[in-house]
Amino acid sequence: MRSLLIGLSTSKSLERFVLSNPLARRTSRRFVAGEELDDALAAARVCNQAGMTVSLDYLGENVASREDAVRAREMYFGVFDRIAQEKLDANVSLKLTQLGLDFGDDFCAQQTEPIIRHAASLGNFVRLDMEGSSYTQRTVDMTLLLRQKSEAVGTVIQSYLYRSEQDIRDLTAKGCRIRLCKGAYSEAPEVAFPRKEDVDKNFVKLMQILLESGIYHAIATHDPAMIDATKEFVARQKIAKDKFEFQMLYGIRADLQRELVRDGYRMRVYIPYGRDWFPYFMRRLAERPANLIFLARNLFRN
Ligand SMILES: Cc1cc2nc3c(=O)[nH]c(=O)nc-3n(C[C@H](O)[C@H](O)[C@H](O)COP(=O)(O)OP(=O)(O)OC[C@H]3O[C@@H](n4cnc5c(N)ncnc54)[C@H](O)[C@@H]3O)c2cc1C
Repeated sequence: MRSLLIGLSTSKSLERFVLSNPLARRTSRRFVAGEELDDALAAARVCNQAGMTVSLDYLGENVASREDAVRAREMYFGVFDRIAQEKLDANVSLKLTQLGLDFGDDFCAQQTEPIIRHAASLGNFVRLDMEGSSYTQRTVDMTLLLRQKSEAVGTVIQSYLYRSEQDIRDLTAKGCRIRLCKGAYSEAPEVAFPRKEDVDKNFVKLMQILLESGIYHAIATHDPAMIDATKEFVARQKIAKDKFEFQMLYGIRADLQRELVRDGYRMRVYIPYGRDWFPYFMRRLAERPANLIFLARNLFRN
């Protein structure tokens, strides 16, 4: 079911159908703050007031043309300006394929570098999301390249990939900030652990390597077992609670988000917005079969 839903997330005809359905659009609001930047900023304000920082994600990936990539780049300048104007505690997460990675590494680097420069000029930070494994090496390389010019950029590592420990060692050797997650794409057993228990075991191992590095990293999960393992590890190693942060997705386990804040941990909420919400929405459905029931119930009820 997971692979099927992730496979369908790239179907343009299904995307057209779903985007034109007002009920599906409304249902997507469980995971997506809205279609406009103002929607995301309003959600960010609520999180900030609850003691949480945020990362804004202007949804989009694998753009069809260089023009679309340039439009996305322009959008990000405005996002950082609004964050600064409205004094929000927010950074930005983006996908390199939204900025034209499919049109070549040089083009993508030229697109991304000015965004990072602009973020840095405002004391802010850009997180390069990690996409499917066909992009992993290029994303790691791009992160290292961009970090030569500015430290205001970090990336994401997925515990389901066999290669991740080495990537973490290479990136942390350069002082890079990393978000650790399990991984949201459908990957072959040649590159990724097929069994959840192995993904989880690797997550704990990588979390420990990251948090021992002394660099400010992010542990991104809604899994209570991963969160407990992190809490236990930092307590045992006497790592202060302000030396790392937990991250969770907008609309998922808000109770756990609040609980962690109450217990003195740092929590950042990843807030997606924009019109291209279909692939993101499908990945969220794929993560939890119960979400399909939620979708079906909403469509049926209306
Ligand atoms: C801040 C953040 C950024 C991320 N960035 C990336 C990225 O750049 N690249 C990438 O590949 N992946 C990314 N992910 C997604 C991640 O890889 C996982 O797919 C996702 O977080 C689910 O894994 P989990 O750790 O929550 O554990 P799971 O074992 O999948 O879930 C544990 C529990 O969390 C809850 N839960 C998890 N997902 C959902 C859901 N969709 N709906 C409702 N409840 C849910 C359920 O209670 C579930 O039992 C990100 C995740 C977070 C939190």
